[in-house]
Amino acid sequence: MELRRELLAAEMLEPSTGEPVRATIEVRVDPLTGHSSRILPDRGLMPASDFDLEAFALQSQPGCPFCPGRVDRLTPKLPARIHPDGRITRGEAVLFANLHAYSSHSSVSVYSPKLHYLPVGAITQRLLADNLGTQVAFAQAVMAAEPQSRWASINANHMLPSGSSLFHPHLQGIVDSAPTTMQRMLAGVPPQRFDAYLDAERRSGERYLGDTGRIQWIASFAPIAPAELRAFIAGISSPAELDDGLIGELAHGLVLALGAYGEMGFSSFNCAIYGAPPATEGYPLNLRLACRSSLKPFYRSDSTFLERLHWEGAVDIAPETLAQRIGERFRA
Ligand SMILES: [Zn+2]
Repeated sequence: MELRRELLAAEMLEPSTGEPVRATIEVRVDPLTGHSSRILPDRGLMPASDFDLEAFALQSQPGCPFCPGRVDRLTPKLPARIHPDGRITRGEAVLFANLHAYSSHSSVSVYSPKLHYLPVGAITQRLLADNLGTQVAFAQAVMAAEPQSRWASINANHMLPSGSSLFHPHLQGIVDSAPTTMQRMLAGVPPQRFDAYLDAERRSGERYLGDTGRIQWIASFAPIAPAELRAFIAGISSPAELDDGLIGELAHGLVLALGAYGEMGFSSFNCAIYGAPPATEGYPLNLRLACRSSLKPFYRSDSTFLERLHWEGAVDIAPETLAQRIGERFRA
């Protein structure tokens, strides 16, 4: 498989000297969806933030509906036909119905009611595996109760810049009878194309981070968002098919990546685990994980007219630089 890329040159005149200056922009095409993405010279678009997240956590804690003492009273329960207890717990994680539903089955799961403050670098494998475990159980429960709801995804908006309306860290699940746009696009990719993409990345090694056993991790060739990583799990197509071993392995990989994000000074991220219907032949369950602008007053959003309205990524963190930065954690 050829990974398509094209260099564009922008010429302008330097304001003080009038001398011509050139900038190079690389346009790349995502081999799975065909989305193009612009790799820009480093412009410092994603500065590390020294914002006092802990102080803001304290400020946002009074009245937080996900904190102990309130979570049982203020969060909606799942209907009894989905789960008799109304909530799904595993370890410290608690899953409940999303008050602001996005689909016929929308859930929210906190890593722990006690963890109102949980910076990216402090998320442990145990916390993440338990939280993913509640989402897997939710997807299984919905599918058992409603066989037509076959499209499941597990997602994260971590901190306000990523779209989270509540500070308290959590995951979100969607299980529905219809896919989202990206689920539909990915499920339409021929299985050989996934194999060819991963083969090409393994051979080149430039963006391949490694495997954690059954899960392969790469830095996206044509990212739609900053510091974007992808992971692929061969042999299963839906989050509902994740067993405890795979949940632990997935949590391990995510914690390696999130630890690197934290070290790079990022505090906000999005994640999407894109399920297709269970047992979809040749479709590997896969995810995207990407950073968002860090939380601080008057921050610059990393989502511009390009991402929102052209569906075109524009990032100034080269995928190869990111792979160098993060790859050693996966190889260690
Ligand atoms: Zn809270």
